[in-house]
Amino acid sequence: MILRPLFGVPVRKALSLLLCTTLATMSPAFGDSLPDLGESARADLSPQLEKKIGESIMNDIRLHEPSYVDDPEINEYLNRLGSRLVAASTSPGADFHFFAIRDSQVNAFAMFGGFIGINTGTILTSQSESELAGVVGHEISHVTQSHLARQISAQKQQSVLGMIAMAIALLAVRSNSQAAGGAIAGSEAAMIQSQLAFSRDFEREADRVGYDILERAGFDPRGMSEFFERLQRSSRVYENNAPVYMRSHPITVERISDMQNRQARAPYKQIRDSLDFQLVRAKLRAQLGSPKEAVSDFETLLRERKFASEAAVRYGLAYSLYRAKKYAQAEQELEMVRRQKSGSAMAESLAGELKASAGDLSAAATIFRDALQRFPLSRALAYGYADTLFSLRSYDKLQAFLDEQLQSYTTDPKLYSLQAKTHAMQGRKLQQHRALAEMYILQGRLVQAIEQLQFAQRAGDGNFYEQSVVDARLRELKKQQAEELKQKK
Ligand SMILES: [Zn+2]
Repeated sequence: MILRPLFGVPVRKALSLLLCTTLATMSPAFGDSLPDLGESARADLSPQLEKKIGESIMNDIRLHEPSYVDDPEINEYLNRLGSRLVAASTSPGADFHFFAIRDSQVNAFAMFGGFIGINTGTILTSQSESELAGVVGHEISHVTQSHLARQISAQKQQSVLGMIAMAIALLAVRSNSQAAGGAIAGSEAAMIQSQLAFSRDFEREADRVGYDILERAGFDPRGMSEFFERLQRSSRVYENNAPVYMRSHPITVERISDMQNRQARAPYKQIRDSLDFQLVRAKLRAQLGSPKEAVSDFETLLRERKFASEAAVRYGLAYSLYRAKKYAQAEQELEMVRRQKSGSAMAESLAGELKASAGDLSAAATIFRDALQRFPLSRALAYGYADTLFSLRSYDKLQAFLDEQLQSYTTDPKLYSLQAKTHAMQGRKLQQHRALAEMYILQGRLVQAIEQLQFAQRAGDGNFYEQSVVDARLRELKKQQAEELKQKK
């Protein structure tokens, strides 16, 4: 049984467990027809449980999946794009979270709890922002229409563990069907794959609902069919090796012509791509290959003037030069992007990184601090500023900055990790362990969080008030742990 370690070890464990227990009992008739969508089937999976399953898989991906893109700029962009689409959906208040997976294959997948993964290959293949929005809108629709829950309920899966295993298996198939294909030997593979892909009815529904979202959000609804058509054309080239997206979301001639029929009725509108869309694509492209290859790739683009946005190509070249450690040259290229009227948090952040890498920390701190005034929501700028203050050993300033950030971003584990580092440098043991405990809680690692609070209790350098806060927090976590153990039984 060969299984690419897709989402870390737990997936493999869950999958093998799943293969032994669940798949053997699955009905082979599932796939072509919509499952019975009675209220009772839906009630098996409460939204709270879905959220919990989604969060635990997401925590696992963040901590163990090497292809998870831990880049605040890429993920922030995807979340901005996603939120705009969700706001135009039938569930505008729903909780969604978008993230990127570093994989050159075109794919996107929806998990429980509104977590949507998008392969970097999808972002790079999209020729316009509307195309990318089309793929994201389609995945949002799978969530708002509860397709995953409806599919799993149809399997009459009773135990929570079984449902989690099923959710992970579905995810493995959608994110890379080779994984499941490899895991499931022989003739069963095709049968199981057809069960794990969404049914054609679900796909058609997600197309229809996604189209409405795209239109209402102000994107060009043609983006969707253009993207699918290009995928289909490329699949003829791939032949048996069709893009993963096509295998997990079978694109049929019928689906494309459905979309085109609707488009024919829509008035034509030209929609400009955002600068951020272009910059995110340039950054991802600049991360491909060796630094030298990336530099020459962008130099060629610039020389041949093959681009939709010169600023984005200059940014890509600057980023490639940054990778090649040619900081002064990178700064020159970046100047043009920084002079853009609208400005860009991504360009400012790279400018700060360039100064810091070149060793001019105070200039870096100034760039980050000023840019944060203009782009207060940018996480990359906040992290860049915090890292620079740390390198400058300005611990008091950094502590004040982190306290202020934590008031707005209460669930950001990175801020707590930075806080712990800062306390450690100043010899404040109790506070260091307390901050680490908060980081672990946000990562869903309760055991480690409890351990840190026990260290904090024994640190012996806190005042009465600080000690009581630690004691209270520890009692709270132990109670939570006892409840979770009870639930598992
Ligand atoms: Zn789909």
